[in-house]
Amino acid sequence: MAILDNMLDVINCQIKEHNIKTLKKVKIVVGELTGVVPEVLEFCWQLSVENSPHEEAVLEVEKIKAVALCSRCANEYLINLGPACKNCGGGAREILSGRELYVDYIEGE
Ligand SMILES: [Zn+2]
Repeated sequence: MAILDNMLDVINCQIKEHNIKTLKKVKIVVGELTGVVPEVLEFCWQLSVENSPHEEAVLEVEKIKAVALCSRCANEYLINLGPACKNCGGGAREILSGRELYVDYIEGE
């Protein structure tokens, strides 16, 4: 899973940077529009830390809802309820959130 590989790279960099011996917690932010399924991420995480010094580390995934701003009436709405604006029915929009995918922080000692 390429996304997880990238994240593990980021996490490993931070582990080195902060001189962490044992990882306790990793928080990842995942937007709804990334197509990343948090459960899959968690599963892959378990596999990747198994039998490593970071086996006990908890992966916390924060899900960010996809929100759009209507270009016609400036209404903000959740994209998962439908592609068009609930207020005016317009389809033109600006994505405000939902594309996030990053390591928020790691904790360890
Ligand atoms: Zn609208």
